[in-house]
Amino acid sequence: MQAAVSLQSEVERFVSAPVRKMLIDGKWAPNPATGEVLARVAEAGPEDVERAVRAARRAFDDGRWPHTAPPERERFLLKVADLIEAHADELAQLETLDNGKPFMESRHVDIPAAAATFRYYAGWVTKLYGETNPSDEAYFNFTLREPVGVCGQIIPWNFPLLMAAWKLGPALACGNTSVLKPAEQTPLTALRLGELLLEAGLPEGVVNIVPGFGETAGRAIVRHPMVDKIAFTGSTEVGKEIHRETSATLKRVSLELGGKSPNIVFGDADTEAAVQGALLGVFFCAGQVCCAGTRLFVEQKMHDEIAQKLAKSAEGMKQGNPFDPDTRVGPLVSKEQLERVTGYLEIGKKEGAKPLIGGERNTAKGLEKGYFVKPTVFTGVRNDMKIAREEIFGPVVSVIPFKDEHDAVLQGNDTTYGLAAGIWTRDVSKAHRVARALRAGTVWINCYNVFDPAAPFGGYKESGYGRELGRYALDLYTQVKSVWLKV
Ligand code: ADP
Repeated sequence: MQAAVSLQSEVERFVSAPVRKMLIDGKWAPNPATGEVLARVAEAGPEDVERAVRAARRAFDDGRWPHTAPPERERFLLKVADLIEAHADELAQLETLDNGKPFMESRHVDIPAAAATFRYYAGWVTKLYGETNPSDEAYFNFTLREPVGVCGQIIPWNFPLLMAAWKLGPALACGNTSVLKPAEQTPLTALRLGELLLEAGLPEGVVNIVPGFGETAGRAIVRHPMVDKIAFTGSTEVGKEIHRETSATLKRVSLELGGKSPNIVFGDADTEAAVQGALLGVFFCAGQVCCAGTRLFVEQKMHDEIAQKLAKSAEGMKQGNPFDPDTRVGPLVSKEQLERVTGYLEIGKKEGAKPLIGGERNTAKGLEKGYFVKPTVFTGVRNDMKIAREEIFGPVVSVIPFKDEHDAVLQGNDTTYGLAAGIWTRDVSKAHRVARALRAGTVWINCYNVFDPAAPFGGYKESGYGRELGRYALDLYTQVKSVWLKV
């Protein structure tokens, strides 16, 4: 067995500072693997949000960012990507300390993907075109693609640095300024990113990072009349609140919310690949992923075999210290999350679902104080049970049988969400038919949880609206102006 990763001195420096950034009313943020205090971070209140929004407004209105020459903005974003890569070990360590996700995930997924996102949007800076429109020739009519303005960007705790990159990459590429609020559970990598942005030469006020709580700092951003757009990733409940709140100012809104994604295994699938895909689909980041494939639909004749194989593979995943390179499943992010997930486990059992493995908190020696929940595979689940309808956000999968293609689509779509879906089959025509029939923003065929900055991501139904990533994100962060000139 390899030794656990030891912390870099830069990480020690960062977490041991008396208080990170502004201090108004410092809060203690605990370490999810041990329940111990990790770092002290300033809490942004409404006055700080006010300062941050005004700074972002000035930086937008005086043109210091939107009017920078495109190649300069491009160079800046490339530099940020390089800096993230140069500090990859350090950022991955901070992420793992803060969120509890295995270091192998932070180091090999979150951090490289964050760098890749900045690099991808660097490429778009010089490719934002307007159009000449076929108007009456007495006039010349053309469109300008302009930045939206000040963006309030509110992100969750499951992929802290990566979500910051998904927000800042396209916003900055298009010439916007930002007030970014990391989740109260995981502010560290966003704050460290702030230092790197300054190191890369970001002008003052272009990005403001306000660690704070949702109901205070978050709400203040959402309500602020000087904020032109809200980009939010988080729970459907808060997304709906943001939708209501922003009706007062009609600011632009994009929402990436919850999910209860169906992962559908047909009888003709490659069983081993499907089991491994299901495993990744639901236990990656301990299931704290909005697109997790939490409803595993299996064609009836294969149901028992797949469920057993999945349970066996899940049992083989090591749970423990996230810095141990062999660890595959870390703790949940917080005590609240632990309580929420174990609450659902009890509900599931009461509803009659049977845990093939797991079904409880993991209090093995050394893990007692952490927020560990055993990977859980439930069988005996019906699609109308609470555990199959509500987002659990933990390492819990429900295996549900289906009769045929029609039934798979019917049950798969029978959810208020529509973020993602998976299909496992060797039949190409069936794969295409089902991919079209599923009402979800992303469909993975014979794979799961695959991402690329070039591929759009976002939800149908109550999973939100707007598409992040790819060229689609440019629509979120620009608006079109039609200009008429009399010839
Ligand atoms: P979760 O339930 O997974 O923690 P939330 O939707 O509560 O997800 O949180 C996602 C982000 O939204 C966090 O940054 C949080 O602080 C913020 N947030 C929570 N409540 C509000 C609110 N009422 N207004 C604005 N932001 C909020």
